[in-house]
Amino acid sequence: MRYQSTRDKAIGISSAEAIAQGLSRDGGLFVPEYFPALSPDALTKLVGMPYVERAAYIMKMYLDDYTVEELRSFAQAAYGMPVYDDPAVAPMRKVDDDTYCLELWHGPTSAFKDMALQMLPHLLTAALSKTGDEKDVCILVATSGDTGKAALEGFKDVPRTKIMVFYPEDGVSDVQKLQMTTQEGENVGVCAVYGNFDDAQTGVKKIFSDEAMRKELAEKGVFLSSANSINWGRLLPQIVYYVSAYCDLVATGAISQGEEIDFCVPTGNFGNILAGYYAKKMGLPIGRLICASNTNDVLTQFIETGVYDRNRPFNTTISPSMDILISSNLERLLYDVSGGDDELIASYMRELSEKGEYKVSDAVFKEIQSVFRCGSCSDDKTMKTIRAVYDTYGYLIDTHTAVAFSVLEELREKDGQRWKTVVVSTASPYKFCDSVLDALGGDTNADGLDLIDRLEEKSGTKAPLPLKSLRGKTVRFKQAVQKENMPDVVTQFLS
Ligand SMILES: *Cc1c(COP(=O)(O)O)cnc(C)c1O
Repeated sequence: MRYQSTRDKAIGISSAEAIAQGLSRDGGLFVPEYFPALSPDALTKLVGMPYVERAAYIMKMYLDDYTVEELRSFAQAAYGMPVYDDPAVAPMRKVDDDTYCLELWHGPTSAFKDMALQMLPHLLTAALSKTGDEKDVCILVATSGDTGKAALEGFKDVPRTKIMVFYPEDGVSDVQKLQMTTQEGENVGVCAVYGNFDDAQTGVKKIFSDEAMRKELAEKGVFLSSANSINWGRLLPQIVYYVSAYCDLVATGAISQGEEIDFCVPTGNFGNILAGYYAKKMGLPIGRLICASNTNDVLTQFIETGVYDRNRPFNTTISPSMDILISSNLERLLYDVSGGDDELIASYMRELSEKGEYKVSDAVFKEIQSVFRCGSCSDDKTMKTIRAVYDTYGYLIDTHTAVAFSVLEELREKDGQRWKTVVVSTASPYKFCDSVLDALGGDTNADGLDLIDRLEEKSGTKAPLPLKSLRGKTVRFKQAVQKENMPDVVTQFLS
């Protein structure tokens, strides 16, 4: 299978090349030239498989230059115990008769990004040997909190790789910051950037498009790649858990095979929900995909109006991993719903970078509306939802997952009916324990690590081990810079 750029479909490269490169030189994102079909027979087979087998099977459909044995061993290394603390990897929790929760946070950093970032280093290092590339790779990451730590964990001490993470100084939680600044490993770097996530992301994108820097690094035998959700090797492992969730519902008799089910996804960069869209394209019986936003609801407005407008205030919310105004992966959706119109996509993206706004064609808008629903949720509502879900079901959820619960319940009220939906749960409540404890009425006047203990006591649940063991770790990274100085940080890191 060949991969194209969303801004130039004439590009036709292999899956290994797409994963090694990350982002296309024209600024576009790599997409597969078609979506392989998941037949009912194949789905039946998948129902009987454990997660690792499901992952190898689905990924093989897209990665024809990798062997199934390779992919199986990668999946075992990425998702096996003790990396994941649950043998189901992505377990499904029944909340009520119509509502299921897909827990994607049983990996080493307690957020859903592990699902992709435990796999990406395997796919990437294999891609380097497959493409015969002699250079080492330096992974650059801009993070709104969860990606950074997950990428550091995935890439630490992986041969032929280095990883440099930039996070916004004032946009991550205590626990998130500590997770990153205490990161172990010989090939890792972490640096704060004054500003918000978009500042950090823009800085990283600038470095990627800097030809002079690219040349200088190439002479040193290093090339830059990305672990942000623009890399195909990050998106692909996410398709797996939609298929897996569906299989689990069939296996437990919650639905019959072929029955459609909705997914409600807390959304920021549009990577998670896009994987759901791709699963639907493959033929997985998904009805609608519900895009849930916090008050940075640029996506919700887009889905409602067909106008993407980033000229608006940036809000710092209690669901910081969704505090994003430019959702990179939306470009892939636009490419698909426009029937692969690369010129149109290039023009939208030009308008976005020049005016901060674009309006899609009627045809594109109609297509999007036929698949997606949406809604947004304030911090206040998020808090009330955490409390209500805990009081009603004894189920503790984090702030991001609460946004999705709230949006789903509002749509159900508006429609005057309930229907079977999987809420995608993207983080352990302990990762955002200050807000979660506050929602339960606990005293939050303490530092991040004490709050973990208090939340355990208050809720009668257990914190994931990697968070518990943060106490006593040494802070290794203290640097903070203006975004203009990010290139210097990278040069220093690599020298
Ligand atoms: C990254 C993240 C999201 C947003 O996912 P996207 O793929 O960027 O839409 C939601 N919740 C949590 C906890 C995250 O870490």
